[in-house]
Amino acid sequence: MAYGRKESRNFLSMVRSRRLKMPKKIGPLMIYPLLPKTNCGRCPPKVCMGFAVQLTDRSLSLEDCPPLFEEKKYEENLKKLRELLAPSVREVIIGSKEKQVKIGGKLVLRRHELRYSNPTTIAVLIDDGMKDEDISKWIDEVNSFRYRYVGMDLTLDMLAIRSTSKDQERFEKVIKKVADKTNLPMVLWAESSILERGLKVVEDRRPLIYAATKDNWGEIGAIALKYKCPLAIYSPNDIKMLKSLVNTLKSWGIEDFVLDIGAAFGKDIAATINNLTMMRISAIEEKDELLAYPLLGIPVRIWDEENGKSPELLSWEESCLASMMLIRYVDMLIIRRATFWSTLPLLILRNNIYNDPRKPVSVEPGLRVVGNPNEDSPVLVTSNFALTFYTVMGDIEKLDCYILVADSEGLSVESAIAGRKLTAEKIAEIIRFSKIEEKIKHRTIIIPGLAARLKGDIEDATKWDVLVGPRDSSMIQAFLKEKWYGKDHTPGWSYK
Ligand code: SF4
Repeated sequence: MAYGRKESRNFLSMVRSRRLKMPKKIGPLMIYPLLPKTNCGRCPPKVCMGFAVQLTDRSLSLEDCPPLFEEKKYEENLKKLRELLAPSVREVIIGSKEKQVKIGGKLVLRRHELRYSNPTTIAVLIDDGMKDEDISKWIDEVNSFRYRYVGMDLTLDMLAIRSTSKDQERFEKVIKKVADKTNLPMVLWAESSILERGLKVVEDRRPLIYAATKDNWGEIGAIALKYKCPLAIYSPNDIKMLKSLVNTLKSWGIEDFVLDIGAAFGKDIAATINNLTMMRISAIEEKDELLAYPLLGIPVRIWDEENGKSPELLSWEESCLASMMLIRYVDMLIIRRATFWSTLPLLILRNNIYNDPRKPVSVEPGLRVVGNPNEDSPVLVTSNFALTFYTVMGDIEKLDCYILVADSEGLSVESAIAGRKLTAEKIAEIIRFSKIEEKIKHRTIIIPGLAARLKGDIEDATKWDVLVGPRDSSMIQAFLKEKWYGKDHTPGWSYK
């Protein structure tokens, strides 16, 4: 059964009706009776009810209560707790202990209900039909792909090796080459007659086997069982067949599945997105056990039907489809190549979806020293919203100055002032707390242009002079040149 054109007409009403069937929420009072209830103080909250609350919002895990694991009398309760707290979507581990990724493990359908766990894993495809030098280049691109974004390194996670040569020896050789050059987890994508020889090379790395279909499920399933590897199931646009394959292979004893319902662009894109949506709704809200596995999206399939399109257009289409799949619940993506213009937006989108909506993205308040400032150097103030902080730091990296990062509770300057999270008192507090007065001889502070309305209050609260800086941090250099190192302040300014 696929959710195609006809079903799409009723799609919204189906989703709306399902909204009424919210999954049963786990509350602390359901967890508490199963805990030791001794208040022994060995977990961070030190009391069992506090621990139950933190288990509910998943800020702690069962492992944080040692008595549950040390004392045999809690064995039965531990089992019940594990069942109670099990995610609606199974968590599947791909890779070895040294380097692994976890996919799935989802607890909620909507991010604001708690948060999404295990960010979508992104793998880059290596075809064994590629030239050796191109394979090396692509592996290097994946290994070195790194982008610093609001204090985090955005990177790629895996490599998928596909047999297009249909040659066992070539497939094995390419897997060896990849294994030598990287310890990233792998997907092995081949027909059953090709797969096993290559799999033997990296069986200790527990790769994901791709894929069992309605035509080969017996042979591929036997290989997955023999090597204890997670198994992808591919059933393009046919959820009924997908469930049937899961059911059969589950009865064989395979536990870790990853589900691929296909990837169509153009006129069939609605079916792809609807299928992914309905599968995840069924898993989380309908408790459909046969769909309660991570979802795999392979937008790289677009390249198999290129129809004379340019590589740039195909990259763009692939990136669009990957973004839509990422938003619609896929837990893992396989893309063609690690290129900054097409891959970076995907990584930023992933980061934005998977950050914790309960916690603003923030940095520690305090003093930052930029370059080699002296006692005459300027002192600037900014908020501790990570995006603001890193933008400002990027704009002043060539200067010698001090930055006071005020605690705005992770909000941007404008929002923090509107919500009274950034006040004259907070700035007075950071001046005291940072001991900046011991490092400089002047008493002038530069505040963001967006904080201009606080000027008088800050002067009253700190007894410092306040200069109102530019509204945009990219103008700080020019501002300092004119206002700080110009007529009033002239100590040793130079652009580096
Ligand atoms: S460690 Fe366990 S038993 Fe001890 S207080 Fe925490 S939850 Fe209770």
